[in-house]
Amino acid sequence: MMSPSVENGYSTDVLLRVSDLKKHFPIERGFLRRVVGHVQAVDGVTFSIRRGETLGLVGESGSGKTTVGRCVIRAIEPTSGKVEFQNEDGQLVDLIGLEKSSLRHLRRSASMIFQDPYASLDPRWTVKDIVAEPLRLSSMASGKQLDEEVVRLLKTVGLEPKHMLRYPHSFSGGQRQRIGIARALSTRPRLIVADEPVSALDVSIQAQILNLLQDLKVQFGLSYLFIAHDLSVVEFIAERVAVMYVGRIVEMAQTRSLFTQPRHPYTEALLAAVPKPDPDLRGKRVSLSGEIANPAAPPPGCHFHPRCRYAQAICKREVPGWEEIAPDHFVACHFARELTLQGVPRSGDAPARD
Ligand code: SF4
Repeated sequence: MMSPSVENGYSTDVLLRVSDLKKHFPIERGFLRRVVGHVQAVDGVTFSIRRGETLGLVGESGSGKTTVGRCVIRAIEPTSGKVEFQNEDGQLVDLIGLEKSSLRHLRRSASMIFQDPYASLDPRWTVKDIVAEPLRLSSMASGKQLDEEVVRLLKTVGLEPKHMLRYPHSFSGGQRQRIGIARALSTRPRLIVADEPVSALDVSIQAQILNLLQDLKVQFGLSYLFIAHDLSVVEFIAERVAVMYVGRIVEMAQTRSLFTQPRHPYTEALLAAVPKPDPDLRGKRVSLSGEIANPAAPPPGCHFHPRCRYAQAICKREVPGWEEIAPDHFVACHFARELTLQGVPRSGDAPARD
């Protein structure tokens, strides 16, 4: 029997807990490759994902969300912080500094779906090779059993056994993403990091892949870290949403609460870009001006202050603290309690099914 963890004062079954995660990439110059600075891609990120939950991680390009995902599956080494994953005994184990054999075992429990189904599949490999590779590498299956497992995985994602011996170029974008999902499922993970899994697809195909991911979540009890820049996609799939800006999470809440009652000005501006069904609301949009800050030289204080319409002197000096402003609703803004920000009405419409 697994023992639940306690977080934020109430009992939860935490599958993944990330604490004060940092990833700083050195900037090297000259013949001797002298380090002249650091890109603070991820700068003190903390969140957790419960079993069977989807956490959406949103932000503009350059906010650091993909780097978080890559640190979580240990595709890259974090600079510091903790990435704890629930082991088979229900205990959270820090993956950083773990011995290779233990890490390999826990790594199977987390896999990744990539953004570009064209670039992420090796064009020289058959579908069977692509889907079977993680099983081979982890010695989970071989021979006839391996073939049977590949067939099972292809059927699970809506492909056919006859597709096994074809190459990626003979598939559409949606089918390629299904191949990527079959591969991600092969080691029977408990957590999938989905990095913009539908952003390269046509809108009609996006709906099919999102519905497939939802179905798989129920069927296999999966949890997702769902990385996206499109809030309408996250609204459909995530129970909670974390908003990232220049390496930091600035707001995190239940999806409904974040969409209808945002408490951070950056979230308000991102939501303003979400298409609205009500024509009266379209004219009241809060536009997001300027470019995202350079993570190699972020502005002092609140990183968002050069673009924030509510900024005051303190915002340029002091980093806002992280506070729980309502149950399960966290924000980092000096004026979160005073501002009345504009959300969007929650759409009850789900994308059309296959
Ligand atoms: Fe804007 Fe200041 Fe809040 Fe940052 S702390 S989001 S600059 S009001």
